[in-house]
Amino acid sequence: MTEHLDTRDDVPLETSIPEAGAPLDSILRTEELQRRPSRPPAHEKENEALVRLTSALADSPNTIFQTLAEIIHDITQCDSAGLSLLTKDGKTPHVDGRRFYWPAIYGMWNPHVGGGTPRNFGPCGDVLDQNRTLLFTHFERRYPYLMPVSPAAEECLLVPFYVHGRAVGTIWAIMHSDRRKFDAEDERIMASLGKFASSAYQAWMRIEDLKVQVAEREKAEAEVRQLASGLEAKMRRLVEANVVGIVMFNLDGAVISANEAFLHMVQYSREDLASGRVRWRDLTPPEWRDRDERAIADLKTTGVFRPFEKEYHRKDGSRVPVLLGGALFEGGGNDGVAFVLDLSEQKRAERALRRSEAILAEGQRLGQMGSFCWRVATDEITWSEQLYCIYELEIGAPVTLSLVRTRVHPEDMTLYEKMLEQARGGGDDFEWQYRLLMPDRSIKYLHAVARAIRGQDGQLEYIAAVQDVTERHLSEEAFNKARSELAHVARVMSLGTLTASMAHELNQPLSGIVTNASTCLRMLATDPPNVDGARETARRTIRDGNRASDVVTRLRTLYSKKKDFSPESIDLNDAVREVLALSLSDLQRHRVALRHELGEDLPPITGDRVQLQQVVLNLLRNGSDAMNKIDDRPRELLIRTERYEEDHVRLSVKDAGVGFEPQAADKLFEAFYTTKPDGMGIGLSVSRSIIEAHRGRLWATANDGPGATFSFVIPCRPEGLADGETGIDPMDKAPEAA
Ligand code: ADP
Repeated sequence: MTEHLDTRDDVPLETSIPEAGAPLDSILRTEELQRRPSRPPAHEKENEALVRLTSALADSPNTIFQTLAEIIHDITQCDSAGLSLLTKDGKTPHVDGRRFYWPAIYGMWNPHVGGGTPRNFGPCGDVLDQNRTLLFTHFERRYPYLMPVSPAAEECLLVPFYVHGRAVGTIWAIMHSDRRKFDAEDERIMASLGKFASSAYQAWMRIEDLKVQVAEREKAEAEVRQLASGLEAKMRRLVEANVVGIVMFNLDGAVISANEAFLHMVQYSREDLASGRVRWRDLTPPEWRDRDERAIADLKTTGVFRPFEKEYHRKDGSRVPVLLGGALFEGGGNDGVAFVLDLSEQKRAERALRRSEAILAEGQRLGQMGSFCWRVATDEITWSEQLYCIYELEIGAPVTLSLVRTRVHPEDMTLYEKMLEQARGGGDDFEWQYRLLMPDRSIKYLHAVARAIRGQDGQLEYIAAVQDVTERHLSEEAFNKARSELAHVARVMSLGTLTASMAHELNQPLSGIVTNASTCLRMLATDPPNVDGARETARRTIRDGNRASDVVTRLRTLYSKKKDFSPESIDLNDAVREVLALSLSDLQRHRVALRHELGEDLPPITGDRVQLQQVVLNLLRNGSDAMNKIDDRPRELLIRTERYEEDHVRLSVKDAGVGFEPQAADKLFEAFYTTKPDGMGIGLSVSRSIIEAHRGRLWATANDGPGATFSFVIPCRPEGLADGETGIDPMDKAPEAA
């Protein structure tokens, strides 16, 4: 039938409406039909025709229009008969359109099958517009495009037919001569055939619909086939790539086929597979069978089982952790396909991660070290378990900055806020110590070190380690206190050895005072009294008294326990001169020749004057002691101060004594190491800790010649010099002087 719909070149099908020729009324003869003499109805012929049409509709609906045209031709005795159907483009007649086309023509106009007329300007359109049968004469007079269609139509009887009350086309009969004229009987019989045309049209439409549906279905099936073949190729690629294990299985427990990746995973060979030895049921360890049963239940109800983790036995008995998921093939059979992923690596990594987390947590617990991460933009804070323990908070409790604050010691709050403020703005690493005031009023000392990093989104974050240093702090405190006591003891002892010389030194001014006072009395007793002489001797008495008082003051300073440590600016040479003044007579008593070379350009230093004097005194005394038994050479002691590098000072005491063995160089500084019968062995150890508290170094070297040299270097302004590092306990409230 489709070929009948093709537009024929020789038939004028207008795309644009041409100008009308004669008026419509002038070419209509419809009213004449009733007036013309009518032939009698040929009922028998009519019945035969209807029977023929009905069987044609049943047997060959594809050619029903052609049969209908034939019958119109036969029954009306016309020259040409045919149908016009409304279509849009001549190919989809079920769509309302702009044209009529002629799917079937019998008789003289048969060559024009496929041609047609415009909907809005043609005889068929007129019939549809008026919705009734019309009889035309020479319609080419009005519709010029029909002029070339030959032979011309003397008369054309056009009858509309309907589907669901809507006119969809016409049947028509044409006389090309005046051999006979249509009459009322023709009109009646055409109306009857029109009804049949409607049935035929609907049957044909259904066939067309079916054809369209079949075509669409075929197209969809072709697409599915194409998709399936593409998918199959992709699936094959996946299977052969051996990136994941792929197995075909059945619900009875068999592995029907598998790719290399799966066989490799469970260490079976292709031969094992072919022999049927590889059964997924047997590969599954007993404790995983329940899980398998659940998957099978899912498969039976939904056709798929969602991915889950389990283990398989390998051929050698070891186990491999896997992730698998799969589905039954369509059709409700027993067979299905599954993917299997080897999770060994992932599990190993997870184990390693868990282990390292456990080690980290244990390390944090042992080291009393917690950690946290702070996202500055959002103030999100994550704490490690140990940090909760340090703060004595419930593990996992939500952490906010204000909670961190509730525990901070009120005295450290300002510093704490300042640190947070700086951290927020700066993005620099930071480190600080602060205290927590716990609910039971105890104090914890914390030391925090924070590193600034950029998170994945580029935002500022801090990762920090927080150590509970309470114990260390308390033991340092105790140690400092003990060291302070020890230093005092050491000082008192050094001074003790000077007592004899001190007594001698005091004796001199005291006997001077007595002598001068007697002289003064004598001068006043003369007549007349020698007032000028008495004034002079009284002046000398005062001078000697001051001298004695100086000695006592110097001694008091060194004997006293200091209350507070306040670093002061010191001229080291001055401090040394004071020590020399105290030691001089003792050195003389021991026949020691003291030389001093005090550097002139010495910068002032910041430190503890008394403690540094204690070190100097100790070095001088040790040097003197080392030369005590020397008689074959001069007992020379040289004390020297000098600038060292840009911002340090150096002091050294060189003697010509017994010296020491090179291997003993470090032993000398150990506490309680002594080679002297009456020694305590704490002088050098205390001296070293004093110098180190000043961020300096104290060491001994053997001289090229006889004797040894002890030296220290300290920075002029020791950075971070704090109470705890000076050996002086600021809380020490011991009475002033011994
Ligand atoms: P003490 O003087 O009570 O022995 P020190 O700690 O001051 O304690 O000295 C420890 C030891 O170091 C001395 O006993 C001595 O053996 C050695 N020593 C100290 N100074 C010198 C020195 N100038 N020459 C040689 N040995 C020294």
